[in-house]
Amino acid sequence: MTPPPPTERRGIFTPELLDRCISCGFCLPACPTYSLTGEETSSPRGRINLMRAIETGQLAVDDPTVVEESSFCLGCRACEPVCPAGVQYGALLEEWRDELWHEGRRPLKLRPLLWAVDAPARVRLMGVPRRHAKGAGERPASASLMLGCFERVLYPRVSRSARKLDPKLRVPSGQGCCGALHAHNGELERGNELARELGEALPGTIVTTSGGCSAHLASVLGPERVKELSQWLAGRSSTEPAKPAEARLRIGFQDSCHARNGLGVWKEPRELIATVGEYVELSSAAACCGAAGTYAILRPEDSARVLDRHLDEIAEADLDVLAVANPGCYRQLQQGVKRRKLRTRVLHLAELLAGER
Ligand code: SF4
Ligand code: SF4
Repeated sequence: MTPPPPTERRGIFTPELLDRCISCGFCLPACPTYSLTGEETSSPRGRINLMRAIETGQLAVDDPTVVEESSFCLGCRACEPVCPAGVQYGALLEEWRDELWHEGRRPLKLRPLLWAVDAPARVRLMGVPRRHAKGAGERPASASLMLGCFERVLYPRVSRSARKLDPKLRVPSGQGCCGALHAHNGELERGNELARELGEALPGTIVTTSGGCSAHLASVLGPERVKELSQWLAGRSSTEPAKPAEARLRIGFQDSCHARNGLGVWKEPRELIATVGEYVELSSAAACCGAAGTYAILRPEDSARVLDRHLDEIAEADLDVLAVANPGCYRQLQQGVKRRKLRTRVLHLAELLAGER
């Protein structure tokens, strides 16, 4: 399908983003949903053609295929690094959901989640009973640790471990959510606003323990302002990882999709893991685990189908530890490993490097 001329556009998508696709199909083998169905409409190229059709009015925005495919897409951005035309699919998906999931059309399950993280005061309150990192750190602060919204509640040891690895990190108490949840779920402008507010609350470089948050923050505040934890640690010669355990652990890694496909961060975590154990590369490591932000909540069955391949490989490799770099992947893999009764421990990279095993 050729791009629509400017006069016939409905203004849902930024023209430069929508017109870039040359329909070559190189992205199809990289797409997890296409590999599940084999259907063109479940591929990146197919979805871009759906976007073009709603942009020109050939399809209604609430056409059942349009609605289904905008939600079936994981938003993993595995289609971006393989695209020869430089299509920014993640940005297109944000614009698509901004149109489709706005206000009354937003999936019901999303509403309480977005409400909970919309106000910094509510996010702070959620973290009060949990023992996440706290502290003034270096003054004046050259870098601040981002606590995240759900990570501070579900995995408070992650931020404590990050601070153990770099005690100079400052942890400002007034910080809220980065806005990624909003941006990926139909509230793009609010998501960008939250990122800017967080940028004001965190002085210096913002260090995050969540790949999804780092990519969103970097897209709003600029990549020079934001570092995913492994990038930060790899760039600091003074960081002393924990001593290797006596028996050498076999350790795999699950990439954060947005750190890998959005920021190009994949080498750093592997090199850091190799300092504390035997690094084992799984062939599924770079592919989405099915957590995908809110996907596991909105589409639990598809999420479990995507996860299955990962669990098969973890079982086959008989890993001691699987390291992750995102709270959503943490929960998804921890639950999957438990369900299958595998002996592998799932740990955040920060916990692994800080010796919290
Ligand atoms: S690889 Fe890029 S240009 Fe080719 S079909 Fe996929 S999105 Fe379009
Ligand atoms: S974001 Fe992931 S699931 Fe969606 S089209 Fe791209 S590769 Fe496929």
